[in-house]
Formats: sequence, C-alpha cells, structure tokens
Amino acid sequence: MRINLCRLSLSFFLLLAPLGHSTETPTAREYRLRFFHTHTRERLDVVYRRGEQYIPEALDELDHFLRDHRTGDVRHFDPRLFDLLHDLTASLGDSGGEIDVICGYRTPWSNEFLRTRSMHTGVARHSLHMQAEAIDIRLPGVPTAELRDAALRLHRGGVGYYRSSDFVHVDVGRVRHW
Ligand SMILES: [Zn+2]
Repeated sequence: MRINLCRLSLSFFLLLAPLGHSTETPTAREYRLRFFHTHTRERLDVVYRRGEQYIPEALDELDHFLRDHRTGDVRHFDPRLFDLLHDLTASLGDSGGEIDVICGYRTPWSNEFLRTRSMHTGVARHSLHMQAEAIDIRLPGVPTAELRDAALRLHRGGVGYYRSSDFVHVDVGRVRHW
C-alpha cells in the first residue's frame, strides 16, 4: 500500500512537473515608488504595478497616503500618475529614490482655502488636484529646474514650476506648462 502511494505521488509529480514548467511566466517587471509626505511626515514604499497589472491594495495605500492632508478626505488616484512619476524618476537616473510630496489630493474646500491665500499664487480654480490627477513634488538632491525639464521632456500632461516654493506640479491632464 505504502509503495503504491509513493508510486502514485511520483506519477503525479512527473505528470505535473512539465506542466508547471510550461505555464511558468517570465518574472513581471515591478514598478516601485518611494515617498515622503512633507505635511503628514509619513513615508510609503510600495510596488504598485507588476507588468501590465496595477496592484489594487497598493493603489489603496497610495490613495490614503495622498489624501487631502487638511481634511483627511481620500479619493482614488488615476494610476497613470504613478507611471508618470515612475518614468520621471527613472529618466533622472533616480529610480526608486524618495519623492517628497507637497500636495496630492485636494478637496474643493482645500483648493479654495489655498486659492484665497495670497502666499499660494497659481492655484487654479479647477485644479486637477481635485480630480486626484495631480501631485506637487520635489526630489531630494535634484534641482527643481532639472526636475521640471525632465517632466517637460516626458510630454505627458501638465507641468507647473513653482520656483519660490521649490516644487514641480505634474498631472495627467492635457499637455501644457506654466
Ligand atoms: Zn499642483
């Protein structure tokens, strides 16, 4: 009986081994991002995409991390923005480097709050931050003008340069710059 069982499992192994091998897919490329939020002081290190697949749990983490830091409201981000950040840092040879976040999602209330304060010039009435399609960032060790130029070279959405506040706005809206 014992021998029979062994034989049985061995036959199973021989049967399944070649199958297992043939269905094996090449390791999918991992897309990783690391962030530091300058307002909440939180950090996030996340693989948000494997190959062509976005990872839902990772996107949830990103949505929460990029919540409106004034109100705590969360909105689902357009994942193309994360691809843009991934390609932007890669184009600067800083793949996987930490990205400082100044602002992610903004509720209409928060946007109006910023807009009506003279120190925040250039806050649009219909800002894409309210659609969770925009992010304000800087990269430690990379001059902001260089970051802006790299973002412009990608030619994917809007690029805003805020020299006095030392950050760059990127979004996945139509291609434009200011
Ligand atoms: Zn912005």
